[in-house]
Amino acid sequence: MYGKIKEHLQKELESIREAGLYKNERLIVSPQDAVIRLSTGKEVLNFCANNYLGLSNHPKLIQAATEALQSHGYGMSSVRFICGTTDLHKTLEQKIAEFFGTEDTILYAACFDANGGIFEPLFTEEDAIISDSLNHASIIDGVRLSKAKRFKYNNADMQDLEAQLILAKEARFKIIVTDGVFSMDGNVAPLDQINILAKKYDALIMVDECHSAGVVGKTGRGVTELFDIRGEVDIITGTLGKAFGGALGGFTTGRKEVIELLRQRSRPYLFSNSLPPAVVNAGIKMFSMMAETTELQDKLHQNTGYFMSGMLAAGFDIKPSKSAICAVMLYDAKLSQDFASRLLDEGIYVIGFYYPVVAQGQARIRVQLSAAHTQAHLEKAVAAFTKIGKSLGIIK
Ligand SMILES: *Cc1c(COP(=O)(O)O)cnc(C)c1O
Repeated sequence: MYGKIKEHLQKELESIREAGLYKNERLIVSPQDAVIRLSTGKEVLNFCANNYLGLSNHPKLIQAATEALQSHGYGMSSVRFICGTTDLHKTLEQKIAEFFGTEDTILYAACFDANGGIFEPLFTEEDAIISDSLNHASIIDGVRLSKAKRFKYNNADMQDLEAQLILAKEARFKIIVTDGVFSMDGNVAPLDQINILAKKYDALIMVDECHSAGVVGKTGRGVTELFDIRGEVDIITGTLGKAFGGALGGFTTGRKEVIELLRQRSRPYLFSNSLPPAVVNAGIKMFSMMAETTELQDKLHQNTGYFMSGMLAAGFDIKPSKSAICAVMLYDAKLSQDFASRLLDEGIYVIGFYYPVVAQGQARIRVQLSAAHTQAHLEKAVAAFTKIGKSLGIIK
């Protein structure tokens, strides 16, 4: 039976390879951190993790996780509504709501699930979802699972958003959906203007804070802090898998009735296992640390500022960014791959992105900064970029 599809799959795989789009996975044999060891034995500086606050290997989170293994065991073996809710789960939900200034929170196994399970329970064919064209894949999939009418506006284009809101005028409920920070450019959604349009056209707002929470805003509270509209956004989704420790887990936080209905109707919540206590307790510890001090956010902002100005001074073409993502524009796909591979030889681990991950002719290297980077790490990275940039004739 397998024979026919086997041949088909082999051809598909071959065509992915031929197109140069085959994704190879690099093996890391150390914890995730600013410095990682590869299976080749080589140690490199890591500039491609979402480890924005440097918490992936933080002793306090490891300790909190270990304590919960002892006190609450290893796994939950249940969904939340049967026997998968512990005191720890409720505490973490409350901590997340405090952090974002929202009313309540619901945890998921991942933000992919939070986004996958948000639209279908809330919206029907009478409603309209108006989504940024560069929104994350999980939002696109979540929207597909609902029966609501779909409208798409060009990335962060407020004229287009308004045009779509006018087209969606007849809908019973309208919701504008956007990433807080777009992962390829590092640009921030213009939430102040989105908020004005939402009020004018009577629409709700949902923001996915995966790349912005912990990072953007003076104290890292995300884009609602940056634009001074904390508590005004109806729905926020986010992940514990990036700045907030990097293990796994997602959440939706926002209006009380929304969260309450999700607990009743959201399928990835109802039909998927509860987060393990170790992860949940590390999350609680993490939000307690955030409430006590902004030391890590401050360090991240300082590191990002230093790196960006160093790269600009060296003459690189960098996308304007308010996040910890720095897109170094090279435009040419092959160049982006050669550049990244030569950086790895210099001990700097970054990834070059090209079409179809970014638009045609927009190839780049994406650098992600972390609070775990030291001044010496950043200097080494800028120096390596400069050396290779000169030898490839990109900068003078
Ligand atoms: C990473 C990411 C997700 C998925 O988060 P997981 O918790 O890893 O599933 C969703 N949305 C955005 C914008 C992301 O960057």
